[in-house]
Amino acid sequence: MRTIGLIGGMSWESSAEYYRLINQQVRDRLGPLRSAQLLMYSVDFGPVEQAQHAGRWDVAARILVDAAQRLQDGGAECVVLCTNTMHKVAEQIQAAITVPFLHIADPAAQAAQQATTLSVGLLGTAFTMEQDFLKNRLAQHGLNVLIPDAQERQALHRIIYEELCVGIISEASRRVYQQVIESLQARGAQAVILGCTEIGLLLKPEHSPLPLLDTTELHARAAVEFALGSGTPAAQ
Ligand code: GLU
Repeated sequence: MRTIGLIGGMSWESSAEYYRLINQQVRDRLGPLRSAQLLMYSVDFGPVEQAQHAGRWDVAARILVDAAQRLQDGGAECVVLCTNTMHKVAEQIQAAITVPFLHIADPAAQAAQQATTLSVGLLGTAFTMEQDFLKNRLAQHGLNVLIPDAQERQALHRIIYEELCVGIISEASRRVYQQVIESLQARGAQAVILGCTEIGLLLKPEHSPLPLLDTTELHARAAVEFALGSGTPAAQ
């Protein structure tokens, strides 16, 4: 089994999900007492979040490059960055390590392709929905990506930082997400990418009128496939 390296802490609410999902999948595939061989470097989200909102992606990149190098030095054989938003600096991280970097967009795009779903809605932080770093990678896989309107984006972003990242799950916020999915469906989306690693804590498949492609779950699965040698790295 290869050793997985996770960069966590953004937020730790979702890093805990990665840890659970990866170990559950290894157990399901290898047997009841089997578990994943992994390292997690969990950063303090405070300085990262401040850098994001100040537009100081260089500062955030330095923190994450350092984390990735520590994981590699500690024996990690791949690096998994447990947040969509910070894939904004994926190229800097990839360039600083020699082990494979498993990009979060690739398993999501592959899941959409397998379901022959080519028009997808994208939910996430304002950074992820408005900037090109994730959308372009999805488009490279042939997907047509729809994003919510400005007011909806603001509401989704607020709920992520003020609620989901601090462990608050509310019915009212679930309804906001459902309404946004309904409007994406009316615009032609065939499925929705949960492009923020905390959204799956709020929204389960039974809450959504469209199929959900949860990046946390799909990214965790890609990490397990890498570790068990049954998958090729999604990205180098
Ligand atoms: N975990 C979230 C994401 O997947 C948001 C927190 C962050 O900004 O990293 O984008």
